Amino acid sequence: MDDVKEVKQEMQRVNEAIFDILNYYICPPECHAFCCKQCAVDLSDKEYNKLRRLSREKADKLKTVKYNRTYSHQLDTPCPFLGHDELCTAYDIRPVKCHTYPFNMTVTSSSLVMLIYPCMMGRCSSYI
Ligand code: SF4
Ligand code: SF4
Repeated sequence: MDDVKEVKQEMQRVNEAIFDILNYYICPPECHAFCCKQCAVDLSDKEYNKLRRLSREKADKLKTVKYNRTYSHQLDTPCPFLGHDELCTAYDIRPVKCHTYPFNMTVTSSSLVMLIYPCMMGRCSSYI
């Protein structure tokens, strides 16, 4: 099996595990969307274009970055898509990095890197 195929299969397995865990993860209102105010989020071109279709004005506030081939833009802090009610106004099309937070899976040219950001705010909805 070639390396690319192996990495893709491994990513698929890790993604499934992340979403299984996130089913039990709850963001309490008293957190006040800490991550959306503090964490810069990397976006692919595709994600950037989706957000731009939702709001060109907000998308124009995003930073353009080119530090690897995968990401082209960055949501700076606080995220312009965070509403006054501290809810995401782009929830249905939010970037993968937002969807999987506090997990962050990154593929470099030589490896698959999994990071877990410290999120002291989240709660587990029930014990598995
Ligand atoms: S897109 Fe939504 S979930 Fe992602 S940082 Fe912005 S407000 Fe938060
Ligand atoms: S992921 Fe963590 S920091 Fe972000 S809103 Fe949920 S509880 Fe808060």
